[in-house]
Amino acid sequence: MSISEPVERLMKLFSRFPGVGDKTARRFALFLLQQPGEFSDELASTISLMRESTFSCSICGNLTTEDPCPVCSDPFRDRGVLCVLENVEDMLSLEQAGVFSGLYFILGGRVSPMDGEDLPPERLSRLGEYVREGGFREVIIATNPSVEGDLTFYAVLDSLKSMKPRITRLAFGLPLGGTIGYADRVTLHASIESRVDVSLANNSFERKE
Ligand SMILES: [Zn+2]
Repeated sequence: MSISEPVERLMKLFSRFPGVGDKTARRFALFLLQQPGEFSDELASTISLMRESTFSCSICGNLTTEDPCPVCSDPFRDRGVLCVLENVEDMLSLEQAGVFSGLYFILGGRVSPMDGEDLPPERLSRLGEYVREGGFREVIIATNPSVEGDLTFYAVLDSLKSMKPRITRLAFGLPLGGTIGYADRVTLHASIESRVDVSLANNSFERKE
């Protein structure tokens, strides 16, 4: 390799980022070398600060620097509706789109037998407790429109069976195989508005309202 060892090491680290290939990793490393030293210092200290100060909200699982997180402690949110999501990225996408004003619960995983992934059992039981004690009138299971999202949906639905709130699921709008994290605002709005009732109590997939 004709490149210096530290540059090569940094390139290897960058190439582990999602969506970053070898060429982009090289561009990032060379870009950093061209910037004033303060830029690298700020980048390094910001990464350290993020790692030290950010943790998961004890109620919803959102990333936060205070517990409960700003969403869980916001008095203006609709505390009657809970939206269950696979990951923080999906939650940030819904928040950014401004299409949902209730509370969230992040599963922090999904069911994917192909990848050997399953829902963390402690998150599922925590969700059960939260739904039992939270007094919600509706729980939206907002898993991604994929095979894994489907499997995750049924695992969550099964864990909430016989509980009081109406259970709904995101409907049309989201492209099959896509993710909530990458959907645009119009699509997210359509899928929230067209959610369908999947409560086991009435045992049918009726459209909401
Ligand atoms: Zn929270």
